[in-house]
Amino acid sequence: MAEETTRLICITCPMGCALDVTHDGPAITRVEGTACKRGVAYAEAELTDPRRMVTSTVRVKDGIHPLVPVYTAAPIPKPRIFDLLAELRRIEVEAPVQMGQIILSNVVGTDVCVLASRDMPQMMEEP
Ligand code: SF4
Repeated sequence: MAEETTRLICITCPMGCALDVTHDGPAITRVEGTACKRGVAYAEAELTDPRRMVTSTVRVKDGIHPLVPVYTAAPIPKPRIFDLLAELRRIEVEAPVQMGQIILSNVVGTDVCVLASRDMPQMMEEP
């Protein structure tokens, strides 16, 4: 395979360095544009096993709001994001929900959990 250069934006920190990654397939020969060594690790991961944190919402039964925001406890493989979002659309949790509560475990074949990012109290019945 021939060497090529791919432009990536490092998303590890808010600096957002523009990286020029020279590689032969997944084998990296040079990374330019990094302001720190984490940019090299990001480029390596991006070429071999790109992962992302995912945030979304899940339906809540009997909550004060109909949806609770959720997030993955760790990044998941990028190609599985839409599978996870489809899974989250199918489920409904029952109020009350506690911030940090596990909403789903081992999502899309990983060991990653989806957690609630806020409390969602139960709606009180009118007297
Ligand atoms: S290369 Fe370093 S400084 Fe630049 S965005 Fe990545 S982590 Fe931040």
